[in-house]
Amino acid sequence: MGRNGSKSEQSSTLVDNFHRPVDYVRIAVTSLCNLRCSYCMREEHEEKSDEESILKKQEISAIIEVLAGLGVTKIRFTGGEPLLRRDIVELVRQAKTQTGIKTVSLTTNGVLLDRFLPALIDAGLDALNFSIDTLDGNRYRTITRREEFCRVRKNLDLLLTTDALAVKLNVVLMRDVNSDELHQFVDFTKHHNVKVRFIELQPFDDNQIWRTGKFFSADNIRALLNRSYPDLHPVRGNATEYFSYTQPNHKGSIAIIPAFTRNFCTGCNKIRITSNGKIISCLYEKDGVNLLPILRGNGSHHALVDLFRQAVSQKPRDGRHTLTNSVRTSMSEIGG
Ligand code: SAM
Ligand code: SF4
Repeated sequence: MGRNGSKSEQSSTLVDNFHRPVDYVRIAVTSLCNLRCSYCMREEHEEKSDEESILKKQEISAIIEVLAGLGVTKIRFTGGEPLLRRDIVELVRQAKTQTGIKTVSLTTNGVLLDRFLPALIDAGLDALNFSIDTLDGNRYRTITRREEFCRVRKNLDLLLTTDALAVKLNVVLMRDVNSDELHQFVDFTKHHNVKVRFIELQPFDDNQIWRTGKFFSADNIRALLNRSYPDLHPVRGNATEYFSYTQPNHKGSIAIIPAFTRNFCTGCNKIRITSNGKIISCLYEKDGVNLLPILRGNGSHHALVDLFRQAVSQKPRDGRHTLTNSVRTSMSEIGG
């Protein structure tokens, strides 16, 4: 079986103590970012990460090989901003060529997308989530604290010219910040084959802005949608896109992610890996299981398998019960 370990190990998948199979892994490939979204990062977020501790391309590839052997089929690259990694195209290509991996996707703020889009498609990227919370330049500056709106908007148009990728827009809706733009985003789906996902604020930022009255709940979003669009047609959602809709004569569709008010734990099938090599088994877990000593210490394939099993066995039945104010200071640590 070579590096892939024994046959019995191959055939046994990752299942947690509550019988939930894990087949989806989000890998944050950097914690750095070229924006400073107010709900995600402090302005003074580190400009440099500790280079030594950042997972290298070969290490990410080794991790994906182990995960594929344990039944993982879906990888999402995220960050920080994943397009800040110069080797992002290679990472996608490697993941796509790994036996067992069926879907490779990416979440990006889109600032650098024009540099990478053709190569990412060529490398086999299946799907791309593009984060854009407003279609207004002034607001974009206020939310992201950077002057990148023109580039991002152009890159969104560029992305929409390709049908090689499944495209979703991530829109974090905040009261008195961009909640009044819901209609513009719904209108956007009229002519574009994208799914717009309205996301509730989650309590993972240093400034705790979700405590400042800006939290806009999924119930509010639903009420607004139902009031404004009587023809809106509910369709089957999934554990994340809990409420999903189509609108007659619109090419795209709409979903709501009740990231805070609903408990996704029952159907949770994912784990996360931080850019410095920690396995995070639950969004609400603080420390994680460190892969680096084994990865860099000539540890065997079996030792890595054991670490993943250990991490998955730590998945709580319901992570929200473990929520504390100190759990996480930025979503960029774990990639959303
Ligand atoms: N930088 C990339 C981007 O923005 O798409 C990838 C990483 S970012 C952490 C992934 C997703 O998490 C983005 O769609 C972002 O809007 C979302 N996010 C970040 N902080 C959040 C928060 N406090 N609540 C809800 N969503 C958040
Ligand atoms: Fe950067 Fe994405 Fe966080 Fe915005 S949400 S600061 S783009 S990591």
